[in-house]
Parts: sequence; structure tokens; C-alpha cells
Amino acid sequence: MKFDPIRSLADMRHEFGEHGGVNMSVETSTAFTVMDPATMPEIFKGQRGPEQGGCFLYGRHFNPTVYVLGRQIAALEGAEAGYCTSSGMGAISATIHQLCNAGDHVVSSDTVYGGTFALFHEYMPAKSGINVSFVDTNDIDAVADAITEYTRVIYVETLANPTLRVADIPALSRLAHEHGVKLVVDNTFSPLVVSPIQLGADIVVHSLTKFMNGASDIVAGSISGTTEFITSLMDLHQGSLMLLGPTLDPRVAYDISMRLPHLGLRVTEHSHRALEFAQRLQDMGIRTIYPGLKDHPDHALLKEIGNEPYGAGGVLCIDLEVRSLAYEMMDRLQNKQGFGYMAVSLGYFDTLMSSPASSTSSEMPVEHRDRIGVSPGLVRMSIGYTGTLEQRWEQLVTVLDEIGVAAVSSTY
Ligand code: PLP
Repeated sequence: MKFDPIRSLADMRHEFGEHGGVNMSVETSTAFTVMDPATMPEIFKGQRGPEQGGCFLYGRHFNPTVYVLGRQIAALEGAEAGYCTSSGMGAISATIHQLCNAGDHVVSSDTVYGGTFALFHEYMPAKSGINVSFVDTNDIDAVADAITEYTRVIYVETLANPTLRVADIPALSRLAHEHGVKLVVDNTFSPLVVSPIQLGADIVVHSLTKFMNGASDIVAGSISGTTEFITSLMDLHQGSLMLLGPTLDPRVAYDISMRLPHLGLRVTEHSHRALEFAQRLQDMGIRTIYPGLKDHPDHALLKEIGNEPYGAGGVLCIDLEVRSLAYEMMDRLQNKQGFGYMAVSLGYFDTLMSSPASSTSSEMPVEHRDRIGVSPGLVRMSIGYTGTLEQRWEQLVTVLDEIGVAAVSSTY
């Protein structure tokens, strides 16, 4: 049977609270006692820990509540183990620094979140001596050509931010493993929609700030992979989580854990509305980018690798080509119609709209943005599920009519 992330989470042993509560308890302690002084050095040597009998040491090392959330996300991803970080960037930078030393090399998709781009393009080469080549990772030959003897990682986003190209994870994984390289996948845009570990990825990172949490009120991240890799992140001498310290607060981990039971319902509705809007927008002659549309270049690939019940994700893009039109549309949608909000981020219950060229992809040089198809008029929409679908559609179509971009009047 095909992997189902929600079933995998439900199959996990339930974590009861201290007094038999249906919800787990939050372990807020930053220091943990031992019954025997000889236990302490064993923990320091890595001979004891949550994977080896449940011993805990210190809050920046494994915390029991954060550990449960890590395992829940690992279950959703079908990974052996997982742990969480204080942000998505914390997860990405810790993962890359765990896998690469100074002088090593990463082959990255040329279409990644602007913060990741800046980390790879500017920060890591300057501060860590890790160099990154940016290539079109949908061109497997180009990825193969970019691999050198120093390459340790191929890095992609499952659904690229913001162009929504779909990474061919099985092909990239085959290539990576032929060269002894790890495939790291950022699955932030597509939790449940695609399960990269099941398709051959070695490590999956998430910004839990987005769909996983769902209320735009928490910043957090996660890393899922093998037990060996997750344990290595906490090594006292070489562990990037232990030593760089992007620790997640256990109270925050608890809050996120409480939102996972309805992740499936939320993602299904985000995807349902995004597909419905994308189809209607396309029928009106508006250039719409959404991998659920049949003419999307990776539609067939997503059908093949995706988990069908969860659709094609909650994010779509409308390309109005010029910035002034994009601004006009977002301004009216927020300030006249109340359709959604001009804000970065995604996975919120209301619709969030932004213009990546002047926000979340602004770290990229303009020629880079032009090459990957991020025009000044591109509007990214994370489609919410508040209100009714028809109410929101009416608000959207009213503005499109007003600004004169609807080639065909809405018949819906
Ligand atoms: N990955 C992707 C695809 C993102 O869109 C973002 C943020 O927008 C991040 C990672 C970074 O996540 P965080 O803001 O939680 O550090």
C-alpha cells in the first residue's frame, strides 16, 4: 500500500501526559537529574540519550517534548528519526553544516526561498567556506554536470518557492546516491502532498512556521532523517544543533504538536481551494501557475510522486508581469474586499499574498529572478480556507474585473 503520512502519524504510539492526560505533558526543565553519577559521563559520550534508553541531559541537547514533536514529524515524513529547531532557517543551516566541511560543495536548485538563497550564495561561502552552485534541478544532466569531487549535498525544495516547479526526487536521489552525495529536500510547501524520504531523499527539512503550524503565530523548523544523522546533530564536539544552538522551546513544540492532528484536514482544504481558483483563473485567461493544472510543466510528475488525497498544495501564483498591476490587485484584495492579507509566509487559515520579486525572492539578483521566471508582477497566494469558497472567489474576481486583467468575464 502507498505510504499515507496521516496514517503513519496515527500509527505512532500515543504520548500521554504525566497524570494520564490525553495530551502529552510539557517538559520545561533545562537540566535533568541522574540517579547514579556514572550515568552522566555516559550521556556526554553519546552512549545514552533518547534513542538509547531515554536519558536526557540539558535543554539545548535533546528535550523530551521537542523529541516527541520531532518523532511525530518523522512519522509524517516516513523517516526513521527527527528533531526540531527554532526556525526553518535553523534546520537548513544546521543540516548543511552537519553534512559539509569548509571546502565542500553543494549543488542547489536555482529556485529556493530567498533566505536560503542568501545563506547559500553569500553567507556560507564567506563564513564557512562551503561553496554552492545553483542549477536548474529539473534538468538532471545539469545537476550531474555540476557535481564535483567536493560535492556533499544536492539541495531542492519539493515545490520551489515561488515558481512551484516540482523536484523530481526519485531521479535526483538516484543521481545523488550514484555520487555518494546526500539529497536534502525542503518540504515546507508540501507537507503530506509529497513524502520525499519515501522517494529516496536522505533528509527532509521544514519550516514549521508555515502549513505545519497553520496559524502564523509560531516560528520553528524540523529535520527528519536517519537515527544516525539526527544523533550526529547533537554530538558534543561536531553536532551543529548542539553547538550552533538553534534550540526549540518545548512549550512551542507542544503547541505545534497540538495542530498536527488537523494538518490533513487543513492541507486538503487549502489544496482544494487552490485548485478550484487556479482552474477558474486559467479559464479567464489569467496566467496562473499551479502544479495541479494540467498544463503545468510538472503536473504529470506531481501526479506520479504525490500523495493524491492531499492535492497539489495550497500555494498558487498569478503572473501579472508588471509590478504596478500586482500591487493594485493586492491592495484592492486586502483593503477593499477583505479577500486576504498582504503578508509573507504561507499556510495560514486566511489567504496571504505577496510579490516575491520585491519580498521573499528579493535576495536574488534581478538577472537570477528573470532566469527562473520570477517577474516583478508575480503574485504568490497561499490560499486560506476561511469564509466560503464562492464568497472568496467573488471577491477575487471583482478585483480582477476592476483592474482589467480578466480577459473572460467570470461565469462561475
Ligand atoms: N523554506 C522555505 C521554502 C520557506 O519559504 C521559508 C520561509 O519563508 C523557510 C524555509 C525559512 O523558514 P523560517 O522562516 O521558519 O526560518
